[in-house]
Amino acid sequence: MGSRVLEEFLRENLAELKSKGLYNEINILEGANGPVIEIGGKEFINLSSNNYLGLATDKRLKERAVEATNLYGVGAGAVRTINGTLQVHDELEKRIARFKGTEAAIAFQSGFNCNMGAISAIMTKDDAILSDELNHASIIDGCRLSGAKIIRVRHQDMDDLRAKAKEAIESGLYGKLMYISDGVFSMDGDVADINGIVEACREYDLISYIDDAHGSGVMGKGAGTVKHFGHSKDIDLQMGTLSKAIGVVGGYVAGTKDLIDWLKVRARPFLFSTSMTPASAAACIEAIDIMEGSTELHDRLWENGLYLKKRLKEMGFNIGNSQTPITPVIIGDEVMAQRFSKRLFEEGVYAKAITFPTVPMGTGRIRNMPTAAHTTEMLDMALSAYEKVGRELGVI
Ligand code: PMP
Repeated sequence: MGSRVLEEFLRENLAELKSKGLYNEINILEGANGPVIEIGGKEFINLSSNNYLGLATDKRLKERAVEATNLYGVGAGAVRTINGTLQVHDELEKRIARFKGTEAAIAFQSGFNCNMGAISAIMTKDDAILSDELNHASIIDGCRLSGAKIIRVRHQDMDDLRAKAKEAIESGLYGKLMYISDGVFSMDGDVADINGIVEACREYDLISYIDDAHGSGVMGKGAGTVKHFGHSKDIDLQMGTLSKAIGVVGGYVAGTKDLIDWLKVRARPFLFSTSMTPASAAACIEAIDIMEGSTELHDRLWENGLYLKKRLKEMGFNIGNSQTPITPVIIGDEVMAQRFSKRLFEEGVYAKAITFPTVPMGTGRIRNMPTAAHTTEMLDMALSAYEKVGRELGVI
């Protein structure tokens, strides 16, 4: 028999979540996570994945993964610092650096542990981190893990950043100062003001850190938000994931050789956790090959995003101010947003409601993520459902 304390803790807390309607029942997908998915024997147009370029199911990536598995086996065998690095991981890092326009790069097993590892390898309890208030959970956790003082900065507000940086410097309380921001904010689809960030960071000598999880593959012809603004050499840490547009799994930081050398001896997930599989690393290299070779998927993604936005706006929906293919449909009321998503599901569209506390109270929304793999016909089917449900629920 296990612990009674644990049993009680779980029973009470699960019951509370369920009674408040906050318990997330996870759907099982019967097959691949493509533009059309199958759940419970029924097909849905999928507008909920981060598979922006459709590469998660791309034949070329699958073949490269199989090839690497045959060559290296299914697992890396051990932590890279202990047992050595497989050539495929080393090659991936070199390719990421070249694509990002930096001297070097380090790959992690996921974007989440990349943020945990990289932030805490640089910042300590003697330092302070200025962090955009809408930053991703993995950034927040990485900041907390570092022990540094966390100073919240108003969303994309460079004046607030300057004021708080000045205050932190004048207090004399901190050693290093870092500013950290998402490159593309996934809830609204807005893009970080990289020019403004570079300027402010220079002015106050802040270490700059951009998490480009949603910008990689999407911005800068695929190379990301930092390169889009021409600042590859000005942002100290360009972080990104290999799990979204790249279609596989993993995270990385690109930067100077010294930075990467340091992370390779101090970032704890790199030091103490086995690397991603050789198949994953090889598939990521194939994704970079594809993106470097042609902007076709990138262009198709943007075309689809613009089409979806235009049609939803014409129907009368509030689609916010997204600057990327991410298309929120802002409903407002939390319960209505949930109801809307449920009705879309009944109409064959898989688009999740995002509500408080993930977004501010009263800005409940359906977040749509069109991808390069959606056909116009698929988007039209989703749009018909939107129109029908929007009218039925009085949203338009
Ligand atoms: N950063 C941001 C901004 C993200 O949206 C995510 C994924 N939700 C992550 C980091 C974590 O990435 P991964 O899923 O690759 O662990």
